[in-house]
Amino acid sequence: MTAPTPSSLPHDGPHARVVVVGSTNADLLARVAAHPAPGETILGERLDVLPGGKGANQAVAAARLGSPTALVGAVGDDAFAEPALAGLREAGVDLSALAVRTGRTGVALVSVSADGENSIVVIPGVNATVDADAVRAHHDVIGRAAVVVLQGEIPRAGIEEAARAARGRLVVNLAPVIDVDTEVLLAADPLVVNEHEAALVAHALGAADGSGNGAAAPAAEDGSDEAVVTALLARGVPSVVMTLGARGALVGAGDLLEQVPTPRVDAVDTTGAGDAFVGALAHGLAGGDDLVTAARLAARVGAYAVRSVGAQSSYPGLGDELPEVT
Ligand code: ATP
Repeated sequence: MTAPTPSSLPHDGPHARVVVVGSTNADLLARVAAHPAPGETILGERLDVLPGGKGANQAVAAARLGSPTALVGAVGDDAFAEPALAGLREAGVDLSALAVRTGRTGVALVSVSADGENSIVVIPGVNATVDADAVRAHHDVIGRAAVVVLQGEIPRAGIEEAARAARGRLVVNLAPVIDVDTEVLLAADPLVVNEHEAALVAHALGAADGSGNGAAAPAAEDGSDEAVVTALLARGVPSVVMTLGARGALVGAGDLLEQVPTPRVDAVDTTGAGDAFVGALAHGLAGGDDLVTAARLAARVGAYAVRSVGAQSSYPGLGDELPEVT
């Protein structure tokens, strides 16, 4: 089946709404010939200040595809707030639940060498204030959402509170993998993880149920993507989407295990491809798509995003043509 293009996606009015609870950063991107050794000072080639943060990226991806989207999070009262918000404003994301707090906006110091290798330091700043109390203040917004999207870049108490507040479908992209209450994973429909994250979560779930290495052991020994997804499902995660870069994604739910292909493209910069995928998945689910259909669309949006430089700036809008799976 061919996934619909964004312009043909169904919308069902005010209920097709995505709420992302997560991080907002300014990415300070330096281009260097080669990364400095510890103690070494080098001259860089250029500096770009770009909007980033996994929460903001995913909100922008969903909004650009046409889903009414809100972001629950925080920026600081410093000079990095406006550059961090630029993409969200442009995409029309509802920022009424985004707090401006005294302190630093989250910043990612990214250096990219000539061979394309990234090295990144993230300073969370006021993303660290998106805790249970901060999230509780927006229970109404979260409770009304058709789809609530979470990642691992805010405090675990904020993630757990958002999962409790969600009444719609919960999409959990546990990146980075942090220690959260098992209840969050058992409510994730789907849990979206890459291969590396999937193995870590499978291991954590195996340990959390008191079985020691439990379901994680066969997954780790077998090493196949299917075995890891099956192990996560066996541990009670309602559904799983494992993203596999240029190999697409693997969708698991109940007895279903389906490989979703991604279009073949010339990859220029994979930064934020995972976030494009998650935002598009949320958009599809909010519009009523089943999980496999939403993942097919998300793979095409992820492939679109790797064809140009940057995260939010590389995401498609409603008029843009997505690459096809051939
Ligand atoms: P990142 O952390 O770099 O954002 P990730 O590890 O979370 O990425 P990936 O699996 O690398 O996520 O990418 C997400 C999706 O983007 C993939 O499932 C695929 O659909 C698409 N994608 C990524 N890289 C490529 C590529 N080289 N060619 C085509 N599609 C790609």
